[in-house]
Amino acid sequence: MTARIRPDLAAIAPYVPGRNVPGAIKLASNETTPGPLPGVLAAIAEAATGINRYPDNGAVALREALAARLGVDANRIATGCGSVSLCQELVQIVAGAGDEVVYAWRSFEAYPVVVKVAGATPVEVPLTAEFAHDLDAMLAAVTDRTRMIIVCNPNNPTGGAFGNDVLARFLDAVPSHILVVLDEAYIEYTRPGDYDGTEHPDGVALAEGRPNVVVLRTFSKAYGLAGVRVGYAVADPAIISALSKVHVPFSVSTLAQAAAIASLEAADELLARTDRLVVERARVRDALLAVGYEVPRSGGNFLWMPLGDQAAAYSAASTEAGVLLRAYDVDGVRVTLGDPAENDAFLAFATGAGLDIWRASRKG
Ligand SMILES: *Cc1c(COP(=O)(O)O)cnc(C)c1O
Repeated sequence: MTARIRPDLAAIAPYVPGRNVPGAIKLASNETTPGPLPGVLAAIAEAATGINRYPDNGAVALREALAARLGVDANRIATGCGSVSLCQELVQIVAGAGDEVVYAWRSFEAYPVVVKVAGATPVEVPLTAEFAHDLDAMLAAVTDRTRMIIVCNPNNPTGGAFGNDVLARFLDAVPSHILVVLDEAYIEYTRPGDYDGTEHPDGVALAEGRPNVVVLRTFSKAYGLAGVRVGYAVADPAIISALSKVHVPFSVSTLAQAAAIASLEAADELLARTDRLVVERARVRDALLAVGYEVPRSGGNFLWMPLGDQAAAYSAASTEAGVLLRAYDVDGVRVTLGDPAENDAFLAFATGAGLDIWRASRKG
């Protein structure tokens, strides 16, 4: 007889990562195309000489480097094995069976998984017609069982974002006993004009003085370290200390800590890459708009194409053309911006065979 597994797990679909096909151009996982910087590789190699020892479970050097960069106390920072681990740990510190977690849908695919794994109930609030979070509807979805609200800013996969003035009004309306998670995985790609509101989004500033607000950031996207798994949370020390209780010990490896510290030292160079990506984002979006696609503005390193029930067909055809995209069943397709040559390969498809599928999606 097999062991008794929690029956509720049967209803949870596992997280589905973007596909890999050898030889294809992968624009499916919001990774960075440029590889690691030599200095980061050297730091990993140097750290590798010590991997017979456990990592620093408190990630002290990394948290101090982050504290210096962000201008906050190190006791306001927790690190995790990717920010997705921290997201899971945040659910664990506030919610269990019978509790509700509110987030927008469609948004990051990991949210329903981490909420259900904790035994809590997801409350999914549809995006607006402009593919943005419907903040008023999210407020209206709060009940006396709500323990956490997640705001993905900019939203993966649709790209919509808010400035701090808009978010501050939202946060001030949320009852202060509810944990609000601002997931800023893509914030380094966000530029003025990419968001609703006037103040540039900065969850760290919003969390200062709001003890129920936590910001999640990651080294996986702009910092190019998706393969070593490291992210961080900034929040009130009481939240950081609760996180330490549910943290899987040593889950941020020695190599990840060293890579993250070296990446912070090279922040100027890595963030300059985001400037180049933002130029490509505008170029690709303009080219798509020019041939008739609807493409909402995006504050991330990706663009959203609302293809409805043609999403799977579009993604299958682009795979055929050698470009991997990410399809979201009946909603649409997300394309990650790569380097100019990769983006050109995508545009060749999108303005060729892809265009017919787009037009088909508009009918009916
Ligand atoms: C990619 C992503 C993350 C972070 O992933 P990690 O690699 O686990 O740090 C978090 N939130 C969103 C919305 C993402 O798209």
